[in-house]
Amino acid sequence: MRVRHAVIAAALVLGVSGCGLAGAQTSTIVGKETMIVGVKIDQPGLGALKKGRNEGFDVDVAAYLARKLGAKNVVYKEAKSSEREKLLQQGQLDFIVASYSITAERKVKVDFAGPYYVAHQDTLVRAADSGITDVRDLAGKKLCQVTGSNSWRRVKEERKVNVSLVETKTYSDCMSKLADGSLDAVSTDDLILAGFARESRNSSVRFVNAPFTDERYGVGLKKGDVAACEAINRAISEMYLDGTARELLGKWFGPTGLKLTVTVPQFEGC
Ligand code: GLU
Repeated sequence: MRVRHAVIAAALVLGVSGCGLAGAQTSTIVGKETMIVGVKIDQPGLGALKKGRNEGFDVDVAAYLARKLGAKNVVYKEAKSSEREKLLQQGQLDFIVASYSITAERKVKVDFAGPYYVAHQDTLVRAADSGITDVRDLAGKKLCQVTGSNSWRRVKEERKVNVSLVETKTYSDCMSKLADGSLDAVSTDDLILAGFARESRNSSVRFVNAPFTDERYGVGLKKGDVAACEAINRAISEMYLDGTARELLGKWFGPTGLKLTVTVPQFEGC
């Protein structure tokens, strides 16, 4: 009996230390002095490049996380919707914070820590278009399709709303096309739309305010760095617990009137 206990105890010790080793797995990014982070550069409030400076909620979140991972410097690079997976797979970026929804399709190619926030898809139209009050009203309308973005799929493929798609490379291109009449609606995350709506205060756009999805914003990582993913999740928890998340959401989106969530989102798991 005593022998059996000893064996079990030894197995437990080994099991625990095995776990410890797995937890201490080396990460290619944790502790890096200069971290290269992918952000958007044309989405006001989230990731924008203004007078040579990157700014916005995603930019601030990226800086906070990089610091928690031990970085002394952060270098921001543009990560367009269509290029995010490729940039991570090729190791050109250490991680991405760029309105990047966690989806099953993307999880095949990259890993996600987080989510660090849950946005909701909504729609922006010209103010004169008073008939559009819900995603279904987009039937027969010209909808912006940003290459590599998931938002148009939510309308056309998931909800089967019969829109005609007008392809662009970025959401700022969508906004120009909405203004010049080459499309009728931009449907994407409320945080993106609120940022644009706030900037173009005088122009005639209208936020429909009929959210219809949960967009779990993940921190994109190259596949396989579980240690980095876990470290980022710990940092995200701290960001909420120490009040930084509330402060940043208020700073960037408080004036938009959007309903903001200031509690730690439910993590995906690494
Ligand atoms: N969150 C959506 C996505 O990841 C739309 C925004 C974007 O493309 O950056 O597809």
